[in-house]
Amino acid sequence: MDRRMDTPIDRRINGHIWDSRARRFQPGEITWNREGVIDGVRPRASVERQWIVPGFLDQHVHGAGGADTMDGSHQRLATMAAELAKYGVTGFLATTLTASPEALLAAVTAAGDYVSERGAELLGLHLEGPYLDPEHRGAQPPAWIRAADRGELERLIDRAQGRIRLVTVAPERPGALETIAWLTAAAIRVNMGHSGADFEAAQRGADAGADGVTHLFNGMPSLHHRAPGLVGLALSDPRIRVEVIADGVHLHPAVVGMVWSAAQGRVIAVTDGISAVGLGPGRHRLGELEVEVDERAVRLPSGTLAGSKLTLAQAYRNLLEWNVDEADVIDSLSTLVAERFGWDDRGRLAPGCRADAVVLDADRTILKTLRAGRLIYHRGNPPTQACEEA
Ligand SMILES: [Zn+2]
Repeated sequence: MDRRMDTPIDRRINGHIWDSRARRFQPGEITWNREGVIDGVRPRASVERQWIVPGFLDQHVHGAGGADTMDGSHQRLATMAAELAKYGVTGFLATTLTASPEALLAAVTAAGDYVSERGAELLGLHLEGPYLDPEHRGAQPPAWIRAADRGELERLIDRAQGRIRLVTVAPERPGALETIAWLTAAAIRVNMGHSGADFEAAQRGADAGADGVTHLFNGMPSLHHRAPGLVGLALSDPRIRVEVIADGVHLHPAVVGMVWSAAQGRVIAVTDGISAVGLGPGRHRLGELEVEVDERAVRLPSGTLAGSKLTLAQAYRNLLEWNVDEADVIDSLSTLVAERFGWDDRGRLAPGCRADAVVLDADRTILKTLRAGRLIYHRGNPPTQACEEA
């Protein structure tokens, strides 16, 4: 067993530490207690040449390392969690695909009682569908897209043991507004997406409680100056968080810059990653679908984009390369996600917060990932058996 992995280490680390309030790095040392809660962040004159930022949080990720949320098994969730830790992720929402009622129930049941101290932490579920617009389905299987069904949602929430945190809904579909209001009242966040909503329909969705948009520009009509639609609502309404897939395929880098100009402080970086994350090119799966993966993109045989093979580690570097301010990058990868879901002890490196951190070198390559002060990834020491689920 590799003692360096997944064991309590020194309970201290030093480097250039991200200060979310000052929005800059400060040389110092972080210490944490036995429970993995930060008990001190102190300035220090001389530190190691490394940069420490809050652990990344991915609210939209389907799979990684060959595993998919729709596999519906603890072992596959553990594979996914271990793989995501390599990319700085300390917490994620396992994301489902539109599927039959039985397949969805199986997936949320597995996630509902999944407990793991290893790898990234499963913080809940994101249901991407099935209450979507078939015309804007992207890679969501059309056969299972259906009208919003309160009874089904109640069963899913029950079987997920309350762990559903986010649902993507097309607001213009039958029953959608009532569903959005009902979910919001149950403290479940709603993204609008895979939708043909016009501006007014999107506004009604926001009025009903939706506070986010799933992978902006993808799975919805483009922005038109006389018909701004969901994109126009997302960019102009301060209530809305916008998901961005910063892989250079889903959005042109110039568009990413435009999104930040319009929606600064409410852009959330996601991967929409699938099982192929961490694997080579070739044929892979997304739920029950077979997809083709090359060096840059994941597509259905028809050519439609089907999720991505992006990691948040790569998104960090892409966004810096595209001249997004590093403070905004860190906010979008961590702080804003924690704030959205009310995870008060995440998304910042401050006393009282969990010691969930990513340690980076000068090039922003990941050296280590810490979850509650425990090493869940160390560069050069790929996770061994000790890091896998028993
Ligand atoms: Zn997705």
